[in-house]
Amino acid sequence: MSKIDVLIVGAGPTGLVLAGECKRYNLSFRIIDSAKGPSTVSKATAVQARTLEVLQIMGIHKKFLEIGTHIKGANIYSAHKRRGHLNFSAIPSPFSLVIGLEQNKTEGILLKHLEDAGGSVERSTTLLSYEERDGSIFCTTDKAVIETQYLVGCDGAHSAVRKSMGCTFKGEQFTDIFSLADIEMDWEPPHNQLHVFLEKKGTLAMFPLSEKNRFRAVFLLERLRGKLKESDSPQHGIIDDKEIKDPTLEELQAVIHSFVTGKATAKNPRWMANFHINSRLSNTYQKNNVFLCGDAAHIHSPIGGQGMNTGIQDAFNLAWKLAYTCKGYTENPNLLETYAAERHTLGKKLLKATEKASFMVTTNNPLIKWMRKYIISLLLSFSSIQNKIVTAISQVNIGYPNKRAPNFPLTDSDLFTKQEKSQKFQLVLFNLKDTPFKHPHVEISHAKDLSKTKAILIRPDGYIALIDYPPFKKLTSYKI
Ligand SMILES: Cc1cc2nc3c(=O)[nH]c(=O)nc-3n(C[C@H](O)[C@H](O)[C@H](O)COP(=O)(O)OP(=O)(O)OC[C@H]3O[C@@H](n4cnc5c(N)ncnc54)[C@H](O)[C@@H]3O)c2cc1C
Repeated sequence: MSKIDVLIVGAGPTGLVLAGECKRYNLSFRIIDSAKGPSTVSKATAVQARTLEVLQIMGIHKKFLEIGTHIKGANIYSAHKRRGHLNFSAIPSPFSLVIGLEQNKTEGILLKHLEDAGGSVERSTTLLSYEERDGSIFCTTDKAVIETQYLVGCDGAHSAVRKSMGCTFKGEQFTDIFSLADIEMDWEPPHNQLHVFLEKKGTLAMFPLSEKNRFRAVFLLERLRGKLKESDSPQHGIIDDKEIKDPTLEELQAVIHSFVTGKATAKNPRWMANFHINSRLSNTYQKNNVFLCGDAAHIHSPIGGQGMNTGIQDAFNLAWKLAYTCKGYTENPNLLETYAAERHTLGKKLLKATEKASFMVTTNNPLIKWMRKYIISLLLSFSSIQNKIVTAISQVNIGYPNKRAPNFPLTDSDLFTKQEKSQKFQLVLFNLKDTPFKHPHVEISHAKDLSKTKAILIRPDGYIALIDYPPFKKLTSYKI
């Protein structure tokens, strides 16, 4: 077979977003996955606001809004009282919510999007290693050797691409074994809110899933304390060990009764398992023409629902840069290097934040456990702190350093609608009829806001490339 532009290894949410984007940009690419078929388990359950904005540019956000639960807030309880509330309507996005959707359903939408566009995943195909020579990458799989210009490892925590790159994956393993259950709840608390119960004895979190009254419960079982085996390699995710038995519905029911007063019955379990967590980061996301995205590049605690969302946004950041480079649209010879610079810096920050949040929730320190309910009540009584937390979780404030452009009202539409399915930069003119800056990959629109004369150039992934004012020197010398 002839040389392709991009080989994507791994068809989880990260690889599927990258494949959908490669198709949209009309690149020649292949996507392989070692598994026989799509995943059937619910793992990540939260789709954040920034991810929905990205999905809008891909043209598929409506499906997520249609089938997912619209989660409007989070409640923190302690000693049988609600101690704090986070209101997601404070998220500065047209999507001021979190979508509760099982990861297998997210992957299902992404796969259908790829297949509707004529793409497909090559299943039961495992990448073993690669070699870079003569301006190509030769990827050895268990079926054949594939020649490609660029290779992207979206192959999860145990990434073969990362190992073949020779990257380190330093970090730590959490000492606890966590348990999860996908169950239907018969109880008072509303389904469109997340519920977290913090007590001295431990933590119970209930994340809404897409079906009515169905939740993902995450909890700690006393019988699993201290049972985690020491391991040098980053064992991460669902535990597959006969000695560590999965939780039972009876065990979960006992945990729920110890946290929740009143009627609270768990029934119809669909998936019950134990998992362990690492917090690790690859030392780099790029080596020559090979890149890492998603869990292949960073793994961390699921607290805050950041993992899958970060992987999707890694893929989205890289996709247009690969496309602009392969298609010769860019005049910037270092465009691809900006991927690792931008996303690795973010990955580092994310690990720190999820480590801190996990410590607060899982700590065994009796003093912190005792103080937790007072600290949380106090902190969440300030709306400015609440807003900061929900905005950080939503990922809309990420910047490199420029943030994503907000949804500017335009004379003929709004920015997000204009970006939908567009592959171009957007140049928004404020109080300006025309501009000398013309480029085949730039679309011009006019903002309704006439208060100040300026121009804002926005990248195809929605991030602000520059803001300029008369006489527009920065803009006219900008290299797309
Ligand atoms: C219990 C649990 C709960 C979680 N909850 C959340 C949450 O609430 N919110 C959140 O954002 N994240 C959550 N996560 C994390 C989330 O599931 C991951 O971040 C996400 O799956 C990463 O997606 P990915 O596509 O990068 O990797 P993966 O989903 O791991 O996909 C990797 C793919 O690569 C394939 N593959 C692996 N090696 C090879 C190879 N050599 N050749 C070919 N194919 C290969 C695999 O078969 C797999 O399909 C949770 C994880 C777990 C385990």
